[in-house]
Amino acid sequence: MDKIKIEDLEIYAHHGVMKEENVLGQKFLLSLELGVDTCKAGRTDELRDSINYAEVAHFTNNYLKEHTFQLIEAVAEHIAEEILLHFPVKEIHVEVKKPWAPILLPMSHVSVEIHRKWHTVYLSIGSNMGDTKANLDKAVALLEAEPKIHVEKVSSYLVTKPYGGVEQDDFLNAALVVETLYTPQELLAVIGTIEKSLKRERMIHWGPRTIDLDILLYDDYVVREENLTIPHIEMHKRDFVLRPLVEIAPEAYHPLLKNSIYQLFEELNKE
Ligand code: AMP
Repeated sequence: MDKIKIEDLEIYAHHGVMKEENVLGQKFLLSLELGVDTCKAGRTDELRDSINYAEVAHFTNNYLKEHTFQLIEAVAEHIAEEILLHFPVKEIHVEVKKPWAPILLPMSHVSVEIHRKWHTVYLSIGSNMGDTKANLDKAVALLEAEPKIHVEKVSSYLVTKPYGGVEQDDFLNAALVVETLYTPQELLAVIGTIEKSLKRERMIHWGPRTIDLDILLYDDYVVREENLTIPHIEMHKRDFVLRPLVEIAPEAYHPLLKNSIYQLFEELNKE
């Protein structure tokens, strides 16, 4: 990925654990590496096709002066997120240097360096209670309303037969590609809130549901936690997951099975 870099932007601000630091303030040096595609701007030579680094620098300066954090970790985390939310930047590397940190020993500076990005996530949604199309539409709208989620693609809605042997109505299923700043656990909490707000009822395992949202893939992460398994444990065995997903993301890659969604879908349907 191409980069636009701003190095050692000098900002006088009030971050620190000690009260004196919050009152008197001190110098901070911010280095930013913005991960962008400069190809178009390089060809057109038009500023509107790029990111205006003066705007990013002033935005950073204002943000650091208007907020007070104890830790430079928090300074880095917040400015990274704010820039990712306010500018068309896919990823960012931030270094915050504190040359006058009060440690009573000679040094050039202390610093933290972090890398943050928009993560690519594949979601599955399904409903088989009430107005199933309206349920899916509402779930997509609620995801779109989240500033830290960008819905990039929504598959067509497919009618599918219920899975798991419980007598119930057909499902309407779809898949989504989203970009998010949430961690996997944060995203799980967000989809849980969306499910709740659409009044999902879970009386019977595998049973009817107003809405079900699952995280299928999250970048190439492998997560094995008590409440969260990524890649989704059963995704490669379920036609109602793979069929809509292959429509919008045949190239998506399963990091454990080491196969694309296209290959997994072909594999499942040839049996
Ligand atoms: P279900 O509605 O049958 O998909 O089950 C929901 C439960 O599965 C939630 O309580 C989650 O904690 C858990 N879970 C584990 N892995 C995932 C995942 N990848 N996506 C969504 N829910 C998950």
